[in-house]
Amino acid sequence: CGITGYVGDGDALAPVLDGLRNLEYRGYDSAGIALVDGGAPSVYKTSGEVDALVAAAPDESEANCAIGHTRWSTHGPPTDTNAHPHTDCTEKIAVVHNGIIENYETLQADLDDHTFTSETDTEVIPHLLEERRAAGDAHVEAVQAVTDRLDGSYAFCVVFEDFEGIIAVRHDSPLVVGHGETGAYVASDVTGFLDRTRQVSYLEDNDIAVLDGDVTVYRDGERIDPAIETIEWEADA
Ligand code: GLU
Repeated sequence: CGITGYVGDGDALAPVLDGLRNLEYRGYDSAGIALVDGGAPSVYKTSGEVDALVAAAPDESEANCAIGHTRWSTHGPPTDTNAHPHTDCTEKIAVVHNGIIENYETLQADLDDHTFTSETDTEVIPHLLEERRAAGDAHVEAVQAVTDRLDGSYAFCVVFEDFEGIIAVRHDSPLVVGHGETGAYVASDVTGFLDRTRQVSYLEDNDIAVLDGDVTVYRDGERIDPAIETIEWEADA
């Protein structure tokens, strides 16, 4: 299972799909992407292989921001509907998630006026974000508030219709950030973007990373400058 994301110059589709291919070795049963191009995120997703996703997705896009996912089902069978990204009721928020939200049933019970379309634990995240946004939280604030309510292990990335970038969180699940010449990357591990940049920041547990042209990391509510390391090793051909 894996997560990829890119925000920057040029079409975000290629880096995100290439990243998913490079993460295929982690195992998965479904794949999906969300493209953000000034309106609601466009979601393409399918059970099966990244090749099937590539066939379902456009050949190119105008999106400068995208997130991608390969799913290893834990809650809900590997169907097209259960594939990520998952959206809120307004379809303005899209989320990809690896891991398990242990308390999703409790959280879902609090969201009884929301319509759920999948059987996943993940889908509570976009609906909770929808509530926080409707209550007036700024984007990062909403992500922090929702994260505070989640039990379990997770790495997730979220895109919003009204935010030009990606907000990424990790808790007991891996996620790394890449700093490229043309933009910023996020992935489950560095192989998700290693063919495009070797400059990497390793997120710590509970970090919130905001990729919006710059990369900003919030740790314990404080804004920090993430350390940037250069990967020296060569991936096997
Ligand atoms: N628990 C989530 C699901 O079943 C995410 C699984 C994953 O890590 O890919 O959809």
